[in-house]
Amino acid sequence: SSFDAMGLREDLLRGIYQFGFEKPSAIQQRAILPIVQGRDVIAQAQSGTGKTSLIAITLCQMLDTTLREVQALVLSPTRELATQTTTNVLAIGDHMSVQAHCCIGGKSIGDDIRRLEAGVHIVSGTPGRVFDMIKRRSLRTRNIKTLVLDEADEMLNKGFKEQIYDIYRYLPPETQVVLVSATLPHEVLEMTHKFMTDPVRILV
Ligand code: AMP
Repeated sequence: SSFDAMGLREDLLRGIYQFGFEKPSAIQQRAILPIVQGRDVIAQAQSGTGKTSLIAITLCQMLDTTLREVQALVLSPTRELATQTTTNVLAIGDHMSVQAHCCIGGKSIGDDIRRLEAGVHIVSGTPGRVFDMIKRRSLRTRNIKTLVLDEADEMLNKGFKEQIYDIYRYLPPETQVVLVSATLPHEVLEMTHKFMTDPVRILV
């Protein structure tokens, strides 16, 4: 299988090839289509499988860049992973004029507010700072179409459960949810039951 055969936008394909990818990894082969078709997806995958680029590719594909509003939100357990996801989105979306911003603790709140109010398409962050930005109304949630829970098991291990549920309550009820997790313990499955409708489950 190839990226060409997936019906991805031309400007996105250019970004993918420029980034150095020749063909999709196993998780990308199986998960790109259901995600861009709008399905809720549970991807059981570890880091190293290409899951970060899966997130970047699918979010870029679904983006309406003419609408300068937050359309996708990615939650990650660590500042490093949240930063990596933003970097990946900007690299793969290099030909698409994607505006992405990373909301993580330890960085300037004033800078987050300015960037969010200037208008961004994709926000990647850790649950604490993201929820803070939502409560301040700097991160507007009404145009969000997709929520990605990356390394969901790790987020729960780090005690982010409450904040994830708090954030979820602010999202439009029809929000697509993509959950990536190396393991699927009870608390992760509980989240899939609360947040997802008829999810496609992919194990790599
Ligand atoms: P990740 O699991 O997202 O952390 O990705 C692990 C590594 O695989 C990163 O260095 C990616 O750049 C690389 N990678 C992801 N997708 C592909 C692909 N389709 N072809 C080649 N390398 C890839």
